[in-house]
Amino acid sequence: MGLIATSTATTKSNGHGEGRIKSYAPATGEVLGDVPIMTADEVRAAVGRARRAQESWAALPIEERCDRVRRYAQALIERQDEVADLLSRETGKPMMEALLHEVAPSVAVAEYFCKRGPEILAPREVPLGLMKHRRAFLHYVPRGVVGVITPWNYPLYMPLRDIGMAFIAGNAVVLKPSEVTPLIALKAKEVWDQAGLPADLFQVVTGGGATGGALIDAGIQMCIFTGGVATGRRVASACGERLIPCVMELGGKAPLIVCADADVERAARAAVFGGFSNGGQVCISVERVYAHRDVADQLTQRMTELTKELKVGDPQKGAVDVGAIIFPKQIDVAEAHIQDAVQKGATVLAGGKRITGQGQFFEPTLLGDCTHDMTVMNEEIFGPVVPIMRVDSDEEALRYANQINLGLNAYVFSKDRDYAHRLAERVQAGSVLVNDVLINGGMPEAPFGGVKDSGFGRVLGEDSLKELCQVKHINIDRFATSNDPLWFPYTDKGLALARKATKLVFGGGGLLKKLSQLF
Ligand code: NDP
Repeated sequence: MGLIATSTATTKSNGHGEGRIKSYAPATGEVLGDVPIMTADEVRAAVGRARRAQESWAALPIEERCDRVRRYAQALIERQDEVADLLSRETGKPMMEALLHEVAPSVAVAEYFCKRGPEILAPREVPLGLMKHRRAFLHYVPRGVVGVITPWNYPLYMPLRDIGMAFIAGNAVVLKPSEVTPLIALKAKEVWDQAGLPADLFQVVTGGGATGGALIDAGIQMCIFTGGVATGRRVASACGERLIPCVMELGGKAPLIVCADADVERAARAAVFGGFSNGGQVCISVERVYAHRDVADQLTQRMTELTKELKVGDPQKGAVDVGAIIFPKQIDVAEAHIQDAVQKGATVLAGGKRITGQGQFFEPTLLGDCTHDMTVMNEEIFGPVVPIMRVDSDEEALRYANQINLGLNAYVFSKDRDYAHRLAERVQAGSVLVNDVLINGGMPEAPFGGVKDSGFGRVLGEDSLKELCQVKHINIDRFATSNDPLWFPYTDKGLALARKATKLVFGGGGLLKKLSQLF
């Protein structure tokens, strides 16, 4: 059964091979198109085609692979209006966000790794400490076919971020987009094909959760999964069963700590932007604000004013700040959090309810007087609701920030950058931004990913490009000898020599220390 993404449908399909999935515009309810629910056999066939294409792709010099990925990035930019328009329709997000938060960073990541990839993945020699008679070389060998499974909130950028890097590393990709937003994935594939790039290297398999499950079972060599914690557990265990390495990019509950000396205007603007960008449907959204009591009133007042100024509506009818709710279940989640918070003493400072009429919209909602017994301070919201809690000290804020079992992004606002840096070191999160929000999501140079239940492994950053490869160690002799003192036969004389040698080499002030000082 396919997903009916209208305001009445709140669950996703779990079946596959039973027809087609319709894609709806969340801002209007209009049907934008439909896609097949692919069977396990079709998924396996797609992986097979990808594998065959990968063999010749991997044989190309990395510089040539980069040239072709760059051609794709350029084709995306040439078609940016058409791509951003479909993206905005299928997700209901503002055109500014479609362009600047999805199309542009997709291209930026590809361009960055096209430039740096050859150097990052160049074979290199590692110096050996003891075994000077040998040389060790590391080579980065493509893994094969990478399965990429992505959610609906950034349905262009999330896949393209991972796909471009996978291609540069010499892999093929089979993408399973969310059933909520399949059309933009197919558009990304269309741009690839029309740019004259090898069609089988990039495959898209459409369908629901079962299609994702089938992808993991179809003989892929790596999985990059972005989605919720519960699904992530299932995917990680399926990968574990098959010994497939995986990257898990899961949920977040980013805290924003406003210290007593913060620039309140910047903190307020950042919290509003970070909380309501993409309608709050961001894994690194500002999901809880801890405001030092010295600035809490001023911050709350300014955030309230800014939130009330936000324009909400259908992005196709003109510029808006906040678009539609992409997946309707998030409206129920937002309502449940607000109801729980209000019952426990929170004040609704702005918004607070769904917007009735055409499409799926929710008022940007600011909650004051929040406390840590409320679900809104503890569980992922993934919608346009920002709770503020007053704290007596930065230490108290830090304690609350770290008590949640999610740790993707976190934010610290203070004019004293050294102090903020030290505080950031103590926040349990994959990334901590000082005096900014969200921006690292599109920063190709730096690793992105979570700690605790927010997942493991990283996307972006040079290590993640290496992770898309197997590292192969080739070890070569420096000079030829017909036997080796470490080989058979073992003799008493040899053992006596070994005893002396281990003391000489490993004993305090021994040869190893001297050697390591020399080299
Ligand atoms: P889900 O976990 O529901 O789905 C993610 C993807 O997994 C979708 O393509 C989904 O398909 C697919 N899927 C579902 N079941 C299975 C299965 N058994 N095996 C394989 N694949 C499966 O997440 P949402 O799409 O609802 O996205 C929201 C979540 O994603 C939030 O928790 C958010 O925090 C997180 N997220 C994390 C990010 C990060 O970088 N850490 C970035 C963005 C979002 P289908 O949709 O068709 O059911």
